[in-house]
Amino acid sequence: MDIGILVIGDELTSGMTQDTNSSFIARELYEQGWGVSAVMTVGDDRAAIRGGLDCLLEISDALVITGGLGPTADDITTAAIAGAFELDLYTDEAVLQQLKGRFSSLGIPWTENNAKQAIFPEGAGIIDNSVGTACGFLLDRDGRPVAVIPGVPAEARKMFSDGVVPIFREKIAYREHIAKRTIKTFGRTESQIDRVLSHEDLEIPGVSIGFYPRFPEIHLVVTSRGEDRDDVEKNLKIVCEKIEGKLHRYIFGYNDDTMEGVTAVLLTNRGLTLSVAESCTGGLITDRLTDVPGSSVFLEMGAITYSNASKVELLGVPESVIEEHGAVSEEVAVLMAEGVSRCPPERAPHAAGFCSGGIAGE
Ligand code: AMP
Ligand code: MG
Repeated sequence: MDIGILVIGDELTSGMTQDTNSSFIARELYEQGWGVSAVMTVGDDRAAIRGGLDCLLEISDALVITGGLGPTADDITTAAIAGAFELDLYTDEAVLQQLKGRFSSLGIPWTENNAKQAIFPEGAGIIDNSVGTACGFLLDRDGRPVAVIPGVPAEARKMFSDGVVPIFREKIAYREHIAKRTIKTFGRTESQIDRVLSHEDLEIPGVSIGFYPRFPEIHLVVTSRGEDRDDVEKNLKIVCEKIEGKLHRYIFGYNDDTMEGVTAVLLTNRGLTLSVAESCTGGLITDRLTDVPGSSVFLEMGAITYSNASKVELLGVPESVIEEHGAVSEEVAVLMAEGVSRCPPERAPHAAGFCSGGIAGE
């Protein structure tokens, strides 16, 4: 079953705001085992909304619509959908009282334009909004569910996951099973990895491998789909194990793992400490490491030695090596790592020094 996504808002078609709702919704739909027929963005304009609805309903079994449910005059989604489906509008008294109650409990003065958020097309089911004011609604269009939710991303996400997905699960009969694993690699380019992986033994029906470069990492998303849950899990496992066999050295983590998180676990488990010497990364690596809770256990210091002189004076990198190989070279990086592992000089060298080019002193 394929689902269409219609994203509404002048701020999106003008490029002033980047649409993040459709990618979230599409990801969630795929997670649930549904496909996406198309994603369309239109402005706050009746004719455009009608065109979007016509076009998407032609190719979809259900629709998710986000945006244009606010109290201001520019938001016309509810009226435009009602017009396109030839439905009257009504004010839902319960939602109106709830809205007024929420305003007064938050100490926000009530203005009449907010009553617009209690207006729905006849026959609509209300989708609650636990994080904002505008409720969403659900319509049925010739047996196809059409879910409409606000555009504010935090509200759209919560309402989609809590309100729309359970309804779709009930109404959209067939769902295939889906299982996914993200394998995170570092140290090889996309094309190098592609070459290693392009083997027939990785071609298993229903399993696909997607490349997602997230500089400096390359993530591989392995997705297995099918009607039988056990087969789906089994096929995913087979392909992941084969990839691990081929890329072993370059895999640093899976799914939600981060490079800094994995580094932290390795250092903590081994009782090692780390000092970082950085140049053109300007403190980025140290910053990411300090984001890990408990990083004070292993992180000793970070030195940003941007100039050649600071590399020589603070880290003891010989000037001749910089002249011969250039500041951006593996040779200099290794010497920077060795240098920072001896800092500050009056203390005993600690376990490891790290620089973007290499690790020394472990
Ligand atoms: P709306 O209630 O649809 O007018 O949206 C309110 C605000 O939410 C907009 O001004 C945008 O800042 C944001 N917003 C709306 N739609 C999206 C979207 N698809 N992606 C990201 N932000 C959005
Ligand atoms: Mg708007």
